[in-house]
Amino acid sequence: MELKVGDFYKCPEGHKAKIVWISRDKEVVAVRCPNKHFSKIVKVADHSKPGLSYRHHPTEERKIYAKNMVFLIKI
Ligand SMILES: [Zn+2]
Repeated sequence: MELKVGDFYKCPEGHKAKIVWISRDKEVVAVRCPNKHFSKIVKVADHSKPGLSYRHHPTEERKIYAKNMVFLIKI
């Protein structure tokens, strides 16, 4: 099956993603997925407890999810 830019293809998590780029040898495609994907964990200072110096503020980890991520997929 010949793939074209604009076709739908599965992203690594199985969503319906759109092909935005195809390599010249047609072995790699880039797909952009409109669904949310786990992106990274960031540490944020917890300022809910007053009275502690900045150094002693506990940090909490927050998960960041991103939409419209682009994946390169070898086909
Ligand atoms: Zn996806």
